[in-house]
Amino acid sequence: MAGVGSTIVEDRIGVLTIDSPPVNALGMAVRKALDEGLASLIGDADVDAVVIICAGRTFFAGADISEFGKPFLPPSLHDILDRIEASPKPIVAAIHGTALGGGLETALTCHYRIAVPSAKLGLPEVHLGILPGAGGTQRLPRVVGVETALEMMTSGRPIAAAKALESGLIDALAEQGRLREDAITFARKLADERAPLTKIRDRDDRIAPARATPEIFQAFREKNARAFRGFKAPEAIIQAVEAAVSLPFEEGLKREVALFRQLEDTPESRAQRHYFFAERDTAKIPDVPADTPTLDIAAVAVIGAGTMGGGIAMNFLNIGVPVTLVEMNQDALDRGIATIRQNYEASAAKGRMTAEQVAQRMALITPALDLAAVASADLIIEAVYESMAVKREVFAKLDRVAKPGAILASNTSFLDIDEIAAATSRPESVLGLHFFSPANVMRLLEVVRGAKTSKTVLATALKTAKRIGKLPVVSRVCFGFIANRLMMPRLRQAEALVLEGPTPAEIDKVITDYGFAMGPFQMIDLVGLDVIERDDPRPNLRKQLIAHGRLGQKQGGGFYDYDEKRRPTPSPVAAEVIAAFAAEQGVANGGAQDTATILATLMYPVVNEGAKLLEEGIAARASDIDVAAILGYGWPVYTGGPMAWADEIGLDKVVAGLEALAARRGPAFAPAPLLKRLAEDGRFFTR
Ligand code: NAD
Repeated sequence: MAGVGSTIVEDRIGVLTIDSPPVNALGMAVRKALDEGLASLIGDADVDAVVIICAGRTFFAGADISEFGKPFLPPSLHDILDRIEASPKPIVAAIHGTALGGGLETALTCHYRIAVPSAKLGLPEVHLGILPGAGGTQRLPRVVGVETALEMMTSGRPIAAAKALESGLIDALAEQGRLREDAITFARKLADERAPLTKIRDRDDRIAPARATPEIFQAFREKNARAFRGFKAPEAIIQAVEAAVSLPFEEGLKREVALFRQLEDTPESRAQRHYFFAERDTAKIPDVPADTPTLDIAAVAVIGAGTMGGGIAMNFLNIGVPVTLVEMNQDALDRGIATIRQNYEASAAKGRMTAEQVAQRMALITPALDLAAVASADLIIEAVYESMAVKREVFAKLDRVAKPGAILASNTSFLDIDEIAAATSRPESVLGLHFFSPANVMRLLEVVRGAKTSKTVLATALKTAKRIGKLPVVSRVCFGFIANRLMMPRLRQAEALVLEGPTPAEIDKVITDYGFAMGPFQMIDLVGLDVIERDDPRPNLRKQLIAHGRLGQKQGGGFYDYDEKRRPTPSPVAAEVIAAFAAEQGVANGGAQDTATILATLMYPVVNEGAKLLEEGIAARASDIDVAAILGYGWPVYTGGPMAWADEIGLDKVVAGLEALAARRGPAFAPAPLLKRLAEDGRFFTR
């Protein structure tokens, strides 16, 4: 047999091995090899049972994403699965790595499953806004029961082999490193014992209880209402499992296909598929090929152990990299280290790590008060106050003490990386590593490429981001980089709009209904009115509120009043301040506005800013902007991010909305030339 499959018969057990790196995705070549290999082994009179196994690092890790949206080439996965299930000889799936999506669905049509302890099994289709469409919604509940199946498919989270054994998803555990041998022995035993050809489709024992208690579906919906809000796939998955319980298998399969088709065509599914590819694209930098040499990062130093520095350090401690933590004085140093310890101890208290792991991580910290302590670090990340003068001073000193070739990074939120780099004699080693708060939690890492940053330094930063579990988005230098600059117009528009009549609560509701966890005013109150746009020279509403002692949740309330449990209520004082400032600015109160107007006023300028980021070359591609918004600001993923959302609603509509805004508020809102051009040509940002 040619191509990616090979067969061999050992001890009258046919072994079909698929070898299609990197992840044995179920693309056309793999399907063909499966189809041919199965036909030959099932038809071979010298074969009593068949083992399907994969070479390389994993069992079939799912569909071949490069085939998405392309015309479908036979053989279909459905045909192969039918062939497996109908085989008169037992077929065993031998699983290592990850059996995901179509991979697990394939294993579910096999008569038996064996896996190594390190294997993980799951149906992650929900993350693409779809459902498992090759029988997964019908077979999984028949093996593991309705509740576990719902949990696995709506969360998309894979389960470990031990749990899979416990729930019945696999029938046996192989010894780590001996999968092939153990699977052959297992198959031999099945053949010798004439074990039944178990077809999951015929099983009823695990779904029968749910037939008697259909209310569990409603309870599951209610329990997860918050997490599922805005998404379409979880509800479709629940309905498919309801069908598995209430309909005969073949009917259930038809329902699965129908629900799959419905989902595929929803904006939510389009958005999630866009986002899936968007995440994979961010590390592709046109002029920095994947084989660009990188530097070894074995020791890290962090300057400043405040809010950000501590969290940044934790990322490296978590992967066993020693961190030298430098502060200005002993008190600040002690505080910073105590906070890190508290964070770890809180995780330990929740059972997420052991006391020993806490001790190991803490032992990797070398505290220091002298910048000279960073001399042996391969990567130095500065997280001191947001002041150009302070940062330049730190970088000038770093230039004197850091070893040659060390990467000098700044965590600045807004400042010019090139100006910071110019304080050193090695601007090629300088770049921005802009973490988001809390830095040990948030996945986004903006990698700010200065005019002189070397490709090696950039490639090393991208690789390091991956090592610490971050998703890097590359930004060129500008005020606020991608995420903060992108979202600034929403904040400004919210503050302008609140003068016209809509209340903070009305505006926030439009944004939370859109899918954000909080609205702009709730966010300002949380972060602190004195922290946002500290250097804005113009008079603004925040300054008026601050003058009334209102700094946000932390002091005096902000746009809202807060009780002792930090629950917000509309604030009469804030309303007065707003009215007075509106009068001073000559803005007439026109009363409430409808949802669509508020949404357009706040969000179209964000899309416009995105267009400018693209036009100026700050962002390399529109999808990078979407990733930054989703991971940095909690933009709802089922809209795809601002740029994909704009494509979905129509760029001509966005242009018209912006032109209306410009007429009302001035030319600052005029649509960016790129946006206008795309709209005129009927083109898109992300398609
Ligand atoms: P912070 O005030 O909490 O911490 C700064 C720390 O740096 C302080 O502990 C201070 O003692 C120390 N420090 C100041 N000068 C120093 C020096 N010369 N040597 C050693 N230590 C020094 O501030 P933060 O919120 O952690 O912000 C740090 C940087 O990260 C800023 O540039 C900020 O813009 C950026 N940032 C902040 C956030 C955020 O949400 N807080 C998010 C992203 C980026």
